[in-house]
Amino acid sequence: MKKTIRKYALILRGEKILVALSGGKDSTAVLYILQKYYSKSHTIQALIIDEGVKGYREKAIASAINNCKKWKIKHTIVSFDKEFGITNDELMPVLEQNKKLGGTCAFCGTLRRNIMNKYAKKMNVDKLVTGHNLDDEVQSFVMNVFNNDFDRMKRMGATAGIIEHIGFVKRIKPLYETPEKEIIAYCAYNNLNHYGEECCPYSWTAKRNEFREMLNNFEVRFPGTEYSILRFGEQLKKELKLNKNKNIKNENTLHPCKQCSEPTEKKYCKTCELIDKIKNEKKNIKERSKNIKKNEKVNYPALKYGASNVC
Ligand code: SF4
Repeated sequence: MKKTIRKYALILRGEKILVALSGGKDSTAVLYILQKYYSKSHTIQALIIDEGVKGYREKAIASAINNCKKWKIKHTIVSFDKEFGITNDELMPVLEQNKKLGGTCAFCGTLRRNIMNKYAKKMNVDKLVTGHNLDDEVQSFVMNVFNNDFDRMKRMGATAGIIEHIGFVKRIKPLYETPEKEIIAYCAYNNLNHYGEECCPYSWTAKRNEFREMLNNFEVRFPGTEYSILRFGEQLKKELKLNKNKNIKNENTLHPCKQCSEPTEKKYCKTCELIDKIKNEKKNIKERSKNIKKNEKVNYPALKYGASNVC
């Protein structure tokens, strides 16, 4: 991780760092390494986001808080409920009723990025650290190829995003080149307490699981596949000159969202648009349910526990 930080100049001397801490192995390992090797020359804080998933999130948050206390890291907890007036548990039935709105993970990711950026600015930090590892990055790359999503592909890398703007705090991924297996081994070797008993109950809805399985199979049969994909992506960006400077001009097209003040190209940012859609859909469901016969039940799908974390 230290090598990756140096190679991509992810953290500069004296910078204030905010770690997005979920309580899982990746963000716990990042926070542990940062507090161990960087806390003398950097201010390190943690941001814990409560997405509102009953029976799962509380345990991971408790683990995150314990580690912060143990390592004397100042932490802030922010919930979807307080920020947006909706939880993931409330989102799921609404999305099930209208599949066109997208999946829970897509919503959850957008809402989390909004909170991370907003709070990173409030806390006046220089960099926002996430626990994305090599496996996550490679899965995202292949997913973008399969989805023909070139715009998303452009935003990938050890530093997320391509637009440099005062309204965006740089999101960095120190575990960008570290395989998931090594992180698991590192946590075990250093006795790091993290939450890993079960996955978010909505992770089974994510398409990413299919890609994870496929890439894991390739990695087992052809070791080094994931590194090759990562390097291929980097080479592609270099060849196509998809560097950040080329996109600085975009900053002029950004302005504060009319509702939450986050930078956006439109009148309202993506988060506010999504929240608005969900609130409207909730109203529609209420209207529709009035017309459903009294004893006719709406069957929401049973929640299953997924195979692994997709955050
Ligand atoms: Fe959110 Fe992760 Fe759960 Fe998906 S799996 S809903 S991204 S917490």
